[in-house]
Amino acid sequence: MLNRSDMVSDSAKKTSSRSFLKELDYSVVQQCMHCGLCLPTCPTYDATKLERNSPRGRIALMRAIADDRLDVTQAFGDEMYFCLGCLACQTACPAGVNYAELFEHARAEVEDKRVLASHKRDFIRGFTVEWLFMDLRRLELLGKIIRLYQQLGIQTLIRRIRLIRLLPLRLRELEAMTPTVCEKFSAELIEPITAAAGAKKHRVAMLTGCAQNLTFSDVNRDTVEVLAQNGCEVVTPAEQNCCGSLHAHNGAWTLAQQLARRNIEQFPPEQFDAIITNAGGCGSHLKHYAKLLADDSAYLKRAELWDTKVKDIHEWLAEIGLRAPMGRQNESRAVTYHESCHLTHGQKVVSQPRDLLRVIPGLKLVELPEASWCCGSAGIYNLTQPEMANELLARKIKHIKSTGATTVATGNPGCLLQLINGAVKESLKLRVVHPITLLAEAYRSEKVV
Ligand code: SF4
Ligand code: SF4
Repeated sequence: MLNRSDMVSDSAKKTSSRSFLKELDYSVVQQCMHCGLCLPTCPTYDATKLERNSPRGRIALMRAIADDRLDVTQAFGDEMYFCLGCLACQTACPAGVNYAELFEHARAEVEDKRVLASHKRDFIRGFTVEWLFMDLRRLELLGKIIRLYQQLGIQTLIRRIRLIRLLPLRLRELEAMTPTVCEKFSAELIEPITAAAGAKKHRVAMLTGCAQNLTFSDVNRDTVEVLAQNGCEVVTPAEQNCCGSLHAHNGAWTLAQQLARRNIEQFPPEQFDAIITNAGGCGSHLKHYAKLLADDSAYLKRAELWDTKVKDIHEWLAEIGLRAPMGRQNESRAVTYHESCHLTHGQKVVSQPRDLLRVIPGLKLVELPEASWCCGSAGIYNLTQPEMANELLARKIKHIKSTGATTVATGNPGCLLQLINGAVKESLKLRVVHPITLLAEAYRSEKVV
């Protein structure tokens, strides 16, 4: 439960004397050697060709602030929020610049100095980042209200009689993006403890996520089934916390730390062989709790152990030796694979999802052009920067069409939602699915062969 102290540090609407960029290890701040090799991989630079919209330009601004040569201004804040945080630049960088850390500290600086503050923005941040996502029971309650709105046909009716047209354009766009809420959430589909099918080889914990739990609880169920099929006993508590990536990526550093501590308490890393996530964005954050809690002597050691135990589902299955499903290979459905930025660039999990798809009987993997180019989802970027997000989505859908595949697989809920929206917009007959769901279906079909 959220207590008063949870709300104080990030929502106290005052600037502090703290500087996140000055506090950051200077070896990280000064690492960029200005070579520009990251520029062609950056979607915002590709769109504008402006240096300030490039990784090199942004890092130069961050360094100028750390060096006291520049004040934190609204223009700096806008630039930090125009960045997708996709981390493609981090993969491209030969100097090993830790852009993820720079980016998170820069956004924390922006929030701390309140250079983007307005009543509307404060309200939205207060309601979502600082309240809704700090206690997932609140998010579930909101999910139930939206589910009722959708199941009673009110959404369809409002759309049909075009009441929506009375709303301002931005609200109409947001309404069109409202995801379908699942009929059942994860706790209604998954037992707190699921036994391994056959001999138990591993004991793992399963993180059900926040948005994932509301919109793709079936993927959570599929993940647990797949783990059980691969000799894992799976512990899935009904009530869980957000991983805190939303908070860390949006400058709410203190709240991200609180969520990290709660997760370590709920899933003691000493008790599990692995702590499993099936959401690329969450995994990328979850693997860095030690950095987040570097100044917390009470938690640092456990956070270091935690980081070693967190595994993306594809990565874990590859590590323990995935059991290939049995089945007929004769029919072959084309499936393509879109890489979640944070799975690929944040976690370097690149080959494992493809290998997993290749062992599924009846599937033929067709490579997607620009598979690792951001789809525009980028956390809540498609809500805050719709123009750029829509450009990226159109580019992605064009490439998906070029493959001729009728199924696209991707390992992150944000990407799943973004691609579903893209397919709906273009009236495209496209199945958008998590790779784990395809594997779970293959295991289930073994029983009926
Ligand atoms: S994170 Fe993505 S958008 Fe931001 S600078 Fe790096 S490549 Fe560009
Ligand atoms: S971030 Fe890396 S790739 Fe980009 S300019 Fe700096 S050193 Fe070069």
